Amino acid sequence: MRDALLELIGDEARVSVSPSVLDQHGSDFTHHRPHAPDVVVFPESTDEVAAVLRYANAERIPVVPYGAGSSLEGHTIPVRGGISLDLTRMDRVVDVRPQDLLAIAEAGVTRTALNAKTQPHGLFFPVDPGADATLGGMAATNASGTTSVRYGSTRANVLALEVVLADGTVVHTGSRARKTSAGYDLTSLFIGSEGTLGVITQVTVRLHGIAELAISARITFPDLEAACRTAVAIVGGGLTAARVELLDERTLRAINAYKETSYLEAPTLFVELTGAEAAVLGDLELVQLAAEGEGALTFDSERGTDAQLALWEARHHAAFALLAAFPDKARRTSDMCVPISELPGAIRHAQELMSANGLEFTVLAHAGDGNYHVGFAFDEDDPAQRAAVQTTNDALVEYALSVGGTCSGEHGIGLGKIGYLQREHGDLLPLMQGIKRQLDPNGILNPGKVLPPD
Ligand SMILES: Cc1cc2nc3c(=O)[nH]c(=O)nc-3n(C[C@H](O)[C@H](O)[C@H](O)COP(=O)(O)OP(=O)(O)OC[C@H]3O[C@@H](n4cnc5c(N)ncnc54)[C@H](O)[C@@H]3O)c2cc1C
Repeated sequence: MRDALLELIGDEARVSVSPSVLDQHGSDFTHHRPHAPDVVVFPESTDEVAAVLRYANAERIPVVPYGAGSSLEGHTIPVRGGISLDLTRMDRVVDVRPQDLLAIAEAGVTRTALNAKTQPHGLFFPVDPGADATLGGMAATNASGTTSVRYGSTRANVLALEVVLADGTVVHTGSRARKTSAGYDLTSLFIGSEGTLGVITQVTVRLHGIAELAISARITFPDLEAACRTAVAIVGGGLTAARVELLDERTLRAINAYKETSYLEAPTLFVELTGAEAAVLGDLELVQLAAEGEGALTFDSERGTDAQLALWEARHHAAFALLAAFPDKARRTSDMCVPISELPGAIRHAQELMSANGLEFTVLAHAGDGNYHVGFAFDEDDPAQRAAVQTTNDALVEYALSVGGTCSGEHGIGLGKIGYLQREHGDLLPLMQGIKRQLDPNGILNPGKVLPPD
């Protein structure tokens, strides 16, 4: 396989069977069992991606696209071996068109690299999943994050894609126009397909103006439900909120231990308001009123980049603080999303359930979207704990579905949520499987992910 790929790529450094490179591409941050690919290929052009796929399709070799490898459900693990196709060398920002509020970039460009190019034009690409993910990976998982409450997920911010299909055919979806009604929306189909329907090689994204003023507030509450109700009021009030994030007191405790800080260990809402000065200042008063109405314990606000970064520091360190808090334990994170009015009840249900089952847990929510992550820390070698985590996670998902929500707000299905997708959309699976068969009849693209065996 390596010799055949070398003939196509012609560069030993970009067709790797080095054990460390194979290991890196065979595991991720999560509890999912690693499995190495047979070879890692680093294409530098769409033509090279097409050549690799033509070869793999003819030989029935699995191909797993790989971006920054930051996904959280075992998405990039090549469970059936084959080729890990690492897109990170396709890292050219092809064009920034400020007059059209868009940019065109290769799939391996990271969101921060793109923003470095757009910032001088007073523009930015808003989707922020925390990790410095690639645009290809973000499109493939329909990532969202802290700013989605204002700007939506990746799907809402992609105008067009260049995609290489399983047989090596290159197709272009969408256009540079800001809207289209031309036929089936295949851009949306490839977005969120997790590398199972095609390899994205180029992404055309929407850009947004950087606002005149941003003010951030950090507000602590006596309980999580009061914080959630405040988040719902902020979103429902149509305020200029660009971020509305929630951490529970356990997460604050982990952050204090990790960063040696002394934040109040109470449920904390982080809010960012952006827009014209008069609107933002008026909205800040309304946020404070809403928070006080819910019995807020403290309310701090800051303007100016450095002061705001300091105010948000706790939120930014949450993921790594939680990893550090339970060094000897496995971690698993759920990703439910509910209609926002249901968020306070969903968080109350999660807390009661976790406490009843005696599990160590934390809650982090993109509260403005109704998207909440319950993080479990557990001993993977203890079958009783593993089983308790599984049943509790099942119950969390079941609750979200019962109030009209979903098993995944942003992380996707990967290996970890196939059963939940069946539970949520069992009636649609034959349709999804039909689409998969149409686009990838030999099943070479990221096999074993998203869909149950056909
Ligand atoms: C600390 C931390 C915080 C996070 N917070 C968030 C968050 O708030 N919101 C959120 O949405 N996610 C979050 N994530 C998850 C992760 O960052 C996102 O899923 C991200 O979109 C993955 O991008 P990536 O470039 O790392 O893709 P990878 O992990 O490399 O790949 C993800 C999936 O996309 C496929 N893929 C990758 N590139 C392509 C391509 N070019 N064409 C086709 N398929 C491709 C892969 O096969 C895989 O199935 C977080 C992760 C971490 C580690």
